[in-house]
Amino acid sequence: MRIASLSENLHAVEITAKLLNDPPSPGYTYVLPVPGVGLSSLSGNKDEMDLFRGFLGKLVEEWMRCGKKIMPENAAVRASGMGPVKGYSTKTHWTLSLGPIFADDYGRIVRGTHRKRIDTGDPAYSSWLWKVYWDYLYRAKPNIWFNRDGEVLFNYTTPVYGQQEPFIELPPFLTADSPNLDCWMEAVLWFILLLNSGYAQLLDRCVLCKRFFVRKREKKIGQGYKRGGPNCGNCRGEVSKVRTNDIRNNAKEQMLKVAAESWAAWKKSHRTPDRYLAVINRVNAECRAQILITTRKERVSPIWAKRNEKEIQKRVEALRNAKG
Ligand SMILES: [Zn+2]
Repeated sequence: MRIASLSENLHAVEITAKLLNDPPSPGYTYVLPVPGVGLSSLSGNKDEMDLFRGFLGKLVEEWMRCGKKIMPENAAVRASGMGPVKGYSTKTHWTLSLGPIFADDYGRIVRGTHRKRIDTGDPAYSSWLWKVYWDYLYRAKPNIWFNRDGEVLFNYTTPVYGQQEPFIELPPFLTADSPNLDCWMEAVLWFILLLNSGYAQLLDRCVLCKRFFVRKREKKIGQGYKRGGPNCGNCRGEVSKVRTNDIRNNAKEQMLKVAAESWAAWKKSHRTPDRYLAVINRVNAECRAQILITTRKERVSPIWAKRNEKEIQKRVEALRNAKG
């Protein structure tokens, strides 16, 4: 059996990044390229747009803070609920709890005893995100069709008109009597559609300019960011400049440290009559790579020690203070 989401679409991620980065023009219609979905309660006036974008931004930020997931590793939501079903029952009973996943050795979820522990230090563990997400889905269930090929299709429609019960789970910045809950509901729906697009993991936020962008390729599992975090095409040059400066500064610092130790240890003798020479001999002996990085030469001359004397003295002072 194939279960297909009608919202699989890379364009949905691009539209989301664009909407989060810049306010849309007046009269914008909130539409994701997804059949059967409309965020139709939003009229497109400016206040509403700002609110919607703010809410969507908060959802996406929290999702990124949680490591682009809504629940911690090995967690499952155990939810049981009843009604209200029209003409049958009006009772609403709903419990929501985060528990460890039941999985077999192959990672398949089964009923059984192989509980996997949840890392309670995972930022997603104590986040409001999973509660809000599951509570929302409980209230605004997806529409499901079974077609004659045996495919199961589902989509989501705007929940605003059918919303009757009070909210159980809201983020910390909203309360049940906030006037803007319709906007919030639509933002959560957009967020769910984004996660369902199949490409949400490509959405990133630049560490430098803070703008959202869509990665070209997915990061491999376990692969970290080489340059201190995601950065967009516009900032890539900046980031490598910063990085080069970092490397250079670290190399210089290492040389100054060695120089200061040598300076502090120097005693005048026949073999080492000159302090500067003694210092650079030690730097040349211990800092070959650092010298290459900072000066592009093989060795430094006593002029280097003279030119950096102030900085070396500062570190000599620090060494003496550390010794008491
Ligand atoms: Zn950037």
